[in-house]
Amino acid sequence: MDANQFEHEYDHMGRTSVAALKRHIANKLIYQVGKDPVSARPDDWMHAAAYAIRDHLVERWMQTTRAQYAQDVKRVYYLSMEFLIGRTFSNAVLALELMPALKQALQELEVDLDGLFDLEPDAALGNGGLGRLAACFLDSMATLGVPGFGYGIRYDYGMFRQLIQDGRQVETPDYWLTHGNPWEFPRPEVSYRVRFGGRLEDTHGGVRWVDTDDVLAMAYDTIIPGYGTMATNTLRLWSAKATEEMDLKAFNQGNYFGAVETKNHSENVSRVLYPDDSTPSGRELRLRQEYFFVSASVQDLIRRYLRSHTSFDQLSDKVSIHLNDTHPVLAIPELMRVLVDEHRLPWDVAWAHCQKIFSYTNHTLMHEALETWPVEVLGRVLPRHLRIIFDINARFLGQLGSQPGGGTELQRKLSLVDETGERRVRMAYLAVLASHSVNGVSALHSELMKQSIFADFAKLWPERFNNKTNGITPRRWLAQANPGLAQLLDQRIGRGWRRQLDQLEGLKAAIELPGFLGAFRRVKRQNKERLAALVQKRLGVSLDTTALFDVQVKRIHEYKRQLLNVLHVITRYRRILDQPDAQWVPRVVVFAGKAASAYHMAKLVIRLINDVAEVVNHDPRVGDRLKVVFIPNYSVSLAEVIIPAADLSEQISTAGTEASGTGNMKFGLNGALTIGTLDGANVEMREHVGEDNIFIFGHTAEEVAGLRARGYQPREWLEEDDELAGVLEMIATGVFSPGEPARYQPIVDTLVNWGDHYLLLADYRSYVDTQDRVDALYRAEDEWTRKAVLNVAGMGFFSSDRTIAEYAHDIWHSTPVHIPAPGVTD
Ligand SMILES: *Cc1c(COP(=O)(O)O)cnc(C)c1O
Repeated sequence: MDANQFEHEYDHMGRTSVAALKRHIANKLIYQVGKDPVSARPDDWMHAAAYAIRDHLVERWMQTTRAQYAQDVKRVYYLSMEFLIGRTFSNAVLALELMPALKQALQELEVDLDGLFDLEPDAALGNGGLGRLAACFLDSMATLGVPGFGYGIRYDYGMFRQLIQDGRQVETPDYWLTHGNPWEFPRPEVSYRVRFGGRLEDTHGGVRWVDTDDVLAMAYDTIIPGYGTMATNTLRLWSAKATEEMDLKAFNQGNYFGAVETKNHSENVSRVLYPDDSTPSGRELRLRQEYFFVSASVQDLIRRYLRSHTSFDQLSDKVSIHLNDTHPVLAIPELMRVLVDEHRLPWDVAWAHCQKIFSYTNHTLMHEALETWPVEVLGRVLPRHLRIIFDINARFLGQLGSQPGGGTELQRKLSLVDETGERRVRMAYLAVLASHSVNGVSALHSELMKQSIFADFAKLWPERFNNKTNGITPRRWLAQANPGLAQLLDQRIGRGWRRQLDQLEGLKAAIELPGFLGAFRRVKRQNKERLAALVQKRLGVSLDTTALFDVQVKRIHEYKRQLLNVLHVITRYRRILDQPDAQWVPRVVVFAGKAASAYHMAKLVIRLINDVAEVVNHDPRVGDRLKVVFIPNYSVSLAEVIIPAADLSEQISTAGTEASGTGNMKFGLNGALTIGTLDGANVEMREHVGEDNIFIFGHTAEEVAGLRARGYQPREWLEEDDELAGVLEMIATGVFSPGEPARYQPIVDTLVNWGDHYLLLADYRSYVDTQDRVDALYRAEDEWTRKAVLNVAGMGFFSSDRTIAEYAHDIWHSTPVHIPAPGVTD
């Protein structure tokens, strides 16, 4: 079905079904939510409308599932500890093309639709980019008809809610399930026993794993609608439940409260998302979470396979398992255990299946983020899996030893077990060994991955390594987040960009049309007003929407260098005080982002941003020429308001540290110009939008490596630059923390005395000079807008549809499911 046919059909349906939809919503309110329309609160209406919309998806969902079985398709299982979905309601309405009908129906019921959308809590089952990528991928898999399943954990508490109190981050729990979740279907009948602990008994036929502590994994399904297609997919999330015998045992001992406590203990495994995406917590509970969800997922996908197959011969033709980073790598020994111990397959047959089934995406080269587990902990929590890992390793090292050039030194370097110090299992190595494909997430990152952490493996198996540059879904990040721009695009290039983002190229011709640049600017201005209203409401700061909106929103991390941005803000502040009569381009500098709760330096940066904002925003000498805001609680739904309002996108990580970034792509798609380093996907963005339309500064990854190798001395850079020295002086002497002048000494020390690991001082001058070029361009209104449009026009490549098409073709070898058109049976 082509996109236009779809639109016609659903526009038609949208227009004619208002009355039906209205009845449907009223029915849901009464019979499902159980509320009288005269006393229903907005929240009740939101649930009623969500249930009504959900019904439309359910039929498509069942059709898709039936078609998958009928066609015996190869299924793709995307295993991820994180899915940062955000809100579902408006996304589902857009997918169904029901927005006009719903608006009308609710209007007739005297309910405000926009208000309803804002009542839905975000599903924040992820920390940042990695989890959001998984969510964009689900959207694209469904849209392309890839028979894809997401598997993850249904955390009771997702990403913490961030409050800012006295300038400091305070973490509070995310009660996202308190009012119920209309988008999920609990499946108590789909539950699996997941075992922990115990011991191994060697028997004649193999190994028995006994005396385990068990917990049940119960499924909750969420429908993932595709756009412009009947195809819908499933996100299946696992929740931990105590086993019955655990309940009964304690209960029969007359110890009811003991029973409740044990039950709570075993159910803890799906309680909370780990608030960190770049360092392994080292906590045993995290390991249990990882095993919990992969064990349930492997059992589930094997059961599904056996519903339509009588032997395992076709397993690797019908199943792909994708590992989103190393968190789900225990799926490898788990699949081996299920095949060898439970289904009695010979080891070599099972292993051959594994190597065809598994594929792995690496997301970081940072050493501290590479997962390893102590042998002692693995042996205690998962003794059977440790034994399997040892057996895999022994076979691998044996083969390595018999190869030319494969001496003991290579064996030591590539062993799955790091023997230096406390013995630890290297999860990334296990992933590389068991997978037929290992990919990085941008061209630069994939290259560096082969040169650094996996260099020896890349020499052994060069064909295994490949690149899949990340992407973002244009449905959420343009159609939904930026209705103004979406409408303008529809008028100029038609509606097809939602499924064919390459069509944005057509904008290049539109630039010359009379009135287009002005119309584009008006959309941007309206988005800035929408953001300004939010800032006014939440922070009480009023923003001048003619100012340049300069935005950095993402996790707060030293490598992302929010601090470099702050150095520029302070530079600008000093200059304004020095030259009050100069013509300044007014700027609003926007920050948002969460810091891991134990990451002190990141939290100190948040405090500095807020302290700088306090001083700058209240300095009467500055006025509207500079405003700084930190918007609390960065999330998907906040990103949807902030990003469309940005003029300038800050992507300023130290070159070689950001694997890809996806925030950078969202900004480009919404018409912001990027100021950035040649890092991650910025490199490819430069190629696609043209180097005249992006502000690149700073040292390249190669230069960074060279600087470090020669012994980088931040003081040398400081002594060369009086302006930089003046900025650090202001921080060090307490200009922004008058009550506590030493508050930011650790920040000054990090930069000046402790080696400045992320090379802020080395990139400062280039960054600040480039910011001056940004100002100059912003003064030339049409020139700026032209470049902004060219950024949008060049973003087609960064659709996650393109990324997923590449995964499906090159890695999963999967083909789309064919769904019969409605009313046609075949
Ligand atoms: C896109 C996104 C990210 C990732 O942003 P980067 O700039 O690539 O780090 C993080 N959090 C949220 C809520 C996002 O939407």
